[in-house]
Amino acid sequence: MYTQRPAEFTYHRPTSLDEAIELLSNDGETRPLAGGHSLLPMMKLRLAEPQTIVDLGRIPGLDGIEQEGDALRIGALETHASVAASEVVRSQCPVLAATAEGIGDRQVRNRGTIGGSLAHADPGADYPTVVTALGASVVAHGQGGEREIAADDFFTGVFTTALEQGELITAVRVPVLSDGAGGAYEKHRHPASGYAVAGVAVAVKVEGGKSAEARIAVGGVTGTPVRATAAEQAMIGIAPVDEASIAGAAEKVPEALSGAIGDTYASGEYRVHLAQVLAKRAIAAAFEAAG
Ligand SMILES: Cc1cc2nc3c(=O)[nH]c(=O)nc-3n(C[C@H](O)[C@H](O)[C@H](O)COP(=O)(O)OP(=O)(O)OC[C@H]3O[C@@H](n4cnc5c(N)ncnc54)[C@H](O)[C@@H]3O)c2cc1C
Repeated sequence: MYTQRPAEFTYHRPTSLDEAIELLSNDGETRPLAGGHSLLPMMKLRLAEPQTIVDLGRIPGLDGIEQEGDALRIGALETHASVAASEVVRSQCPVLAATAEGIGDRQVRNRGTIGGSLAHADPGADYPTVVTALGASVVAHGQGGEREIAADDFFTGVFTTALEQGELITAVRVPVLSDGAGGAYEKHRHPASGYAVAGVAVAVKVEGGKSAEARIAVGGVTGTPVRATAAEQAMIGIAPVDEASIAGAAEKVPEALSGAIGDTYASGEYRVHLAQVLAKRAIAAAFEAAG
């Protein structure tokens, strides 16, 4: 039944991480709330009916963006708007700032958080694809303490992650793009929401005039972000960077995309086609960013 009203729930607003973890560890009917821009629509549609909501908004230590060595630590509660505006993100990992800037609309960017987006693991979301290409990791806290999960291992299915019941994302650790490294993200926006019908993120490291390392992740096409490893291999050693070698690498992207998802907006076959086209653009842009 479509009611536009969520089912009844109990609301908690803890002021410490320990208290939140304690509340969340009780049972599977308890959900954390961050920006509410995915959870609340799902509750209104009765696709989610948590009995208890734990609002993370008053917990200290879940915000902040700073550089720690060769990585950025971004607090889980940082909004898309604050990631987009952050000087350190813009200078050390410009592709992440640009990604945040391209999410949804102003209201979504002002409320939605990076932790919420990663935990929600929507196949069309932008951050999962980009953090996978960047080789980032998710910092999670639960009753057993803190652990760090590589983005490659974090997204396990549609709306499903490696988080355990009672575990919270507290931060994301994103490697900075050092000299000679570049990143790019290209997506085909769904016209109604901005979600990626297909999106391709590329990170490349150029050494001695040749590409020495490459990571390509594709989102929106299958249930989780997928590494296009054959295309990554084809990117290694490219020099000079010309249209033919970029197209040659992009042609291998579909090899990673078995089980493409189709819906009323775009068939699976069309999404795979988009991924190849977007990969060409993203590879070229990543090389350009690498300088
Ligand atoms: C109109 C519209 C357009 C959008 N367009 C885009 C788009 O173009 N690209 C895009 O990527 N996204 C888009 N989104 C989604 C948006 O980015 C959401 O903000 C994001 O997916 C969820 O973040 P949130 O902070 O709002 O999380 P919430 O809605 O509060 O929570 C989402 C889920 O994550 C869990 N959760 C939240 N925080 C944590 C945490 N720290 N640890 C563990 N679990 C947690 C919640 O329990 C819930 O299950 C759009 C949303 C709307 C409404």
